[in-house]
Amino acid sequence: MSAVIIDGKALSARVRTELVARIARAGRKVRLDAVLVGSDRSAAIYAENQAKTCAAVGIEYRLHRLPDGAQYDDIAGRVLLLNTEDEVHAIMLHLPLPPGVDVERVQSLIAPEKDVEGVNPANIGNVVYGRRSLVPCTALAAVEMIESTGVELRGARAVIVGASNIVGKPIAVLLMRAEATVISSNKFTRGIADLTRSADVLVAAAGVPGLIKGDMVKPGAVVVDVGINRISGIDGKSITVGDVAFDEVSEVAGFLSPVPGGVGPMTVAMLLRNTVDAAHR
Ligand code: NAD
Repeated sequence: MSAVIIDGKALSARVRTELVARIARAGRKVRLDAVLVGSDRSAAIYAENQAKTCAAVGIEYRLHRLPDGAQYDDIAGRVLLLNTEDEVHAIMLHLPLPPGVDVERVQSLIAPEKDVEGVNPANIGNVVYGRRSLVPCTALAAVEMIESTGVELRGARAVIVGASNIVGKPIAVLLMRAEATVISSNKFTRGIADLTRSADVLVAAAGVPGLIKGDMVKPGAVVVDVGINRISGIDGKSITVGDVAFDEVSEVAGFLSPVPGGVGPMTVAMLLRNTVDAAHR
């Protein structure tokens, strides 16, 4: 293996240490409120882990659970109430919401200054303008990981595979802001391997296991794998893999982020950092 591993666990540990210090210096409480609707098991596990992670850095975490049958008005009402409470600095909405509830409509109700997941269109718009705003956590995580390699982004060619509103598009915009030459691609892009092979920086965010093969990568490139896919391993047990064929690509890339242990832990760290930023503003 030749690629240097971009260690998301180590980078996120550094961010957390900085946050502990920032909270202590400010000497004020920081509070994150999360809304969880229904009895989805993975969302509940995620919320439990979040409570622990917040406690570890000194952020107060409150979970608001709404029943399975909750409708748009119930969820919207809770979000609007949290918007008005001064002691609530940050709000996040666990997904999924019950069938029939418009997720984007609820997200757009979160007060932009408390929207630590960066899902309100106002925050996403400000990312485009380069104004100070809360940026979607996974996009921030991916870009921080790229920057951690020391690569010069100005003038570099960056190819983003995947163009969702909350992951691929904001990553593309952040890299444009860093004056990279950015190519955004999606499942309809023709000749994607020619594009990825030309990339100094390659971000895989498609949700397709093993999509990026070794012969699709420019030697020495920085490759960040955002994908999180559950597949069946050789022994039949379910395992988590990214969008990058790790073994092959690690022979070609200069830097590569693993899955698990890459963008995932950094995304959590970015949520915590957005929370502290929201509280201190
Ligand atoms: P999405 O389904 O909303 O969007 C996927 C995008 O990839 C679309 O633009 C689609 O056109 C494109 N795409 C699909 N197949 C493709 C192909 N064969 N070639 C090129 N483009 C293709 O997904 P999302 O929410 O953006 O998530 C993408 C991946 O990132 C998923 O694996 C998801 O689990 C993961 N993710 C990880 C984190 C994290 O914290 N690490 C956070 C969010 C999402």
